[in-house]
Amino acid sequence: MGREKDLSGLQNEAKVRLCPDCKNEEIEHRNGEFFCKKCGLVIDE
Ligand SMILES: [Zn+2]
Repeated sequence: MGREKDLSGLQNEAKVRLCPDCKNEEIEHRNGEFFCKKCGLVIDE
């Protein structure tokens, strides 16, 4: 109980995401998917 998970260095990378369509940097993360806040394009990895 109360054990801390150490995931540092594995999935903690701050990636800069860009919309491939409109080059917008405001990418929203929802339901396990990334999508552009501007044009709504879903960005698949
Ligand atoms: Zn876009």
